[in-house]
Order: sequence, then C-alpha cells, then structure tokens
Amino acid sequence: MQHQLNIYNTLNRKKEPFKAINAPFVGMYVCGPTVYSDVHLGNCRTFISFDVIFRYLTYLGYKVRYVRNITDAGHLESDGDVGEDKISKKAKLSALEPMEIVQKYSIDFHEVMKIFNVLPPSIEPTATGHIIEQIEMVKTILASGFGYEVNGTVYFDVEKYNKTENYGVLNNRKLEDLLNNTRDLGGQNEKRGTLDFALWIKAKPEHLMQWPSPWGMGFPGWHLECSAMSNKYLGEQFDIHGGGMDLAPTHHTNEIAQNIAACGKQPANYWIHTNMLTVNGQKMSKSLGNSFLPHELFTGNHPLLHKGYSPMVVRFFMLQAHYRSTLDFSNEALDASEKGFKRLMSAIGLFDKLKVSDSSDINVNDLEQKFAAAMDDDFNTPVLIAELFDLARTINSIYDGKTKINQKDLNDLKSLIKNLVADVLGLTDDLQAQNDVSPVMDFILKIRNEAKQNKDYATSDKIRIGLNDIGFQVKDGKEGSSWSKI
Ligand code: AMP
Ligand code: ZN
Repeated sequence: MQHQLNIYNTLNRKKEPFKAINAPFVGMYVCGPTVYSDVHLGNCRTFISFDVIFRYLTYLGYKVRYVRNITDAGHLESDGDVGEDKISKKAKLSALEPMEIVQKYSIDFHEVMKIFNVLPPSIEPTATGHIIEQIEMVKTILASGFGYEVNGTVYFDVEKYNKTENYGVLNNRKLEDLLNNTRDLGGQNEKRGTLDFALWIKAKPEHLMQWPSPWGMGFPGWHLECSAMSNKYLGEQFDIHGGGMDLAPTHHTNEIAQNIAACGKQPANYWIHTNMLTVNGQKMSKSLGNSFLPHELFTGNHPLLHKGYSPMVVRFFMLQAHYRSTLDFSNEALDASEKGFKRLMSAIGLFDKLKVSDSSDINVNDLEQKFAAAMDDDFNTPVLIAELFDLARTINSIYDGKTKINQKDLNDLKSLIKNLVADVLGLTDDLQAQNDVSPVMDFILKIRNEAKQNKDYATSDKIRIGLNDIGFQVKDGKEGSSWSKI
C-alpha cells in the first residue's frame, strides 16, 4: 500500500510531506531526560509519543537510527546559564557521587520506559561520554566567529549570528522581540548580549563535574551536547529532531544556532514537538509540585487518585490525544480510557472465537486505508483509535453472527490489527491477568471489609500487608477499598 506521510514541521509551521534524505534510512534525534530525579508522567508522555513515531516509521519500512540522549551533566537549574548543575546539586544533597545519581535515575528511567512498552532507542549517548566532541564543537564555533571567551567561559554571540542567520527561526520570533523579553542575568557582566548563552562554562573549584579544556577547567553548556551528539551519530543534516514543546524556544533554538555556526547547515529537516501533559490546565512539572510518578498512578497511591491504572491503560489514555494537543490529567479521563481500552482488548480477544463464512461483509483494504490515513496525517493516534472502536463494533457483530467474514479476510484483519495495535501503538493486553484474579481479589477485600467493620484491625492489616507482599496494593477510599497490581 502506498503511503504519503505528512508531518507537522515546527520549523515551517505547517504539515509537510515526509521525504527522507537517504531513504530507506531515517535519522531521528530526541532530547532525552536529565537524570537527576524520577521521570514523571509528563516526561513519559513525550517519550511515548516519539515511541509511536519511531514505531510507525519502522512499520512504513524505514530503517530508523533513533538517538535519544541522557543528560548527565551541564543542565543547570534555570535551563539557562544560572543556578547549579541539577545532577551535582542532587549529589551534594544526597552525599553521593554525581555518577551514582546518574546511575540510579537512568535505571529508573529505563524501567519506566519498559513498563510503558517504549522501545529502546538505537543509540543512547550521554553528555559526559562526549566531552571531547563538545570541546571540538566549541572550537569550531569560535573559529567561525560566533563565539567568544571571557574568563574561561565561552559564549555564543546571538546578535552577531542573527546578522547573517535567523536566530528565532524555530518559533518565528524576531530578535528585537526576544531582546525586549529577556531578563536572563546569568553571566550578565561577561555576556555581550542578554540572549548570548554559554557553550562552555568555567567551573568553580568546588564544582563536582569538570573537565580540562583549552579555556581551563569547566563543563559544557546544556544545549551543546545535543548539537554535538546528533552531529556525531546522524551527520550534519538528518531527518527528524524532536522533544517537548517547552524545549523549542531556548534549547532547540540554541541547538540550531550552534549547528549552523559549526557546520553551516540547519541540522534537521523536520522539527517535531510534543505538547504538554497538564494537571488542571497547568503543565505537569516537578518544580510546580503537580507531578505524578508512574508507580503512583499504577498503584493509585496519590491523594489525587481514586484508584490505580495499568500501564497500558495509561499509554492508551496518552494516545487518545494527538501529540500536538495538550492532554489534561484527571481520574475521569483515565476511567474513560480504561473502559475504552477494555472494550478494544475484549473485541480483539474475540478474534480466535469468530466463526468464518464463505462470504465476507468486510473490506480489509478499506480498513487498512482508513487506518493509514489517520497515521499518515501527522501520526494521528486518536483518529486511529476511533477507527479501531468502529472495528471493535464490527468484530462484536461478527461474533453475534450478524456480520460475515471469510477465512482470508479474518487472517488479513488479524495481522493488520496486530501490526497496528501491538507494533505501532505498542499496546498489549495487561488487563487480562488482572481480570483473572479479579473475583478472588474482590472476595478477599470483602472479608477484609467485614473484619474492619468488626473492628478486627489486626486481621484487616494482616490481609493488606499480606497482599502487598505478594504484589497487590490495597487502597482505602471514601467509596470503599480498591486494589491494583504493584
Ligand atoms: P527534562 O528531563 O525535564 O529535560 O524533560 C525530558 C522531556 O520531557 C523533554 O522533552 C520535556 O520537554 C518533556 N516534558 C517535560 N514536562 C512535560 C510535560 N508536562 N508534558 C509533556 N512532556 C514534558
Ligand atoms: Zn537536547
């Protein structure tokens, strides 16, 4: 089947037909996490969105080299040039080595990604593993005249760059407007202009992670690692660069400037940005204190949650919104997704029980076209899921004997659904195991409830702790007790 994939390109603010530079190979770079704390559900949304993009490109036959970095040095608290390095700060607070922090949260990140069925990238490079490449890039930028050194720190000269290039190109912003709106005081007395940003930062003696460089002991600026590593693994120009929308105005804008200053080329042809997961309309973020950790959601162990949800229900909930729309987190929305997910999975579960006929009322080609049209339209997973709900109704109708399907169509339909649901959307039926134990668990909780009513707290606690030991979390709420798999 012929596909014309269209991708919304932040750079040109429109949907454009996707054309790989060197088909069937595709190079894709996505900014990964800064590993100084647990990943929250907002971060997960971004990585799940790019997982689906990676999966769909692979489904279309592209051989994707997917590079997603780990930031383990250089990311300051402010996202700019002020504040402490996030990892060093955490290391000091916990009296640990910075690399112990990096190790702990990288493992945590990988575990969470696995639970959400996010495929590993092809390369996962770290900032500390690419200090030499970053120093080389700073040297090139200095040689091209767009950088300057002051007292061991090297800055990027934004105003000079903007004389020949367009600094605000990614978000279509004029330099004058940006200058009027900046109040960045980082390195203020050293910088020539307020928009200038650090490529290499001089380290104070007590700074935990520092390396020798031509400008003295220091460490790389946060934006530099992605320019250096995308360049190393994907070349001067590659197909797709992505990350959360919050990264576009500064991190990605600076990345583009660095790459153009170093190589004269716009690094990526398509810039893809995912929108934010919000809570009551506000971006979910660690600093705002409104973030949920994945395991809190799985267990329901959070004051704002009335129960736990399985990882696949959460993934399904995320995919029911388009990656460029905001998605607001609420118990009600998750409940609705859980219902929908169950409906879809139980329809798919009927496949092996369907009776075949000699004739068929189903046109698998038409279905394939519809599904493809959704995904080819900028990876529109909510439209694909709506089409899958229609199909679930048809499967139920075949099961009830009201619609006919022949053997060939059934085989084709099964493999189409496997490709789209399991391989592209990355959904597996993790509720099945829960369904199996559900009646038993309800029975145990009923006995526990009776114990509580009789004020036999020893027994009710024994049941709760015993269940916890074998992997089931019990949550007592206003509407009674509920359970979830830990
Ligand atoms: P960080 O570790 O904070 O650098 O973030 C890692 C990735 O998660 C980046 O691509 C961010 O844009 C993204 N991100 C952070 N908060 C959210 C959110 N609330 N919703 C979606 N993506 C987010
Ligand atoms: Zn980056």
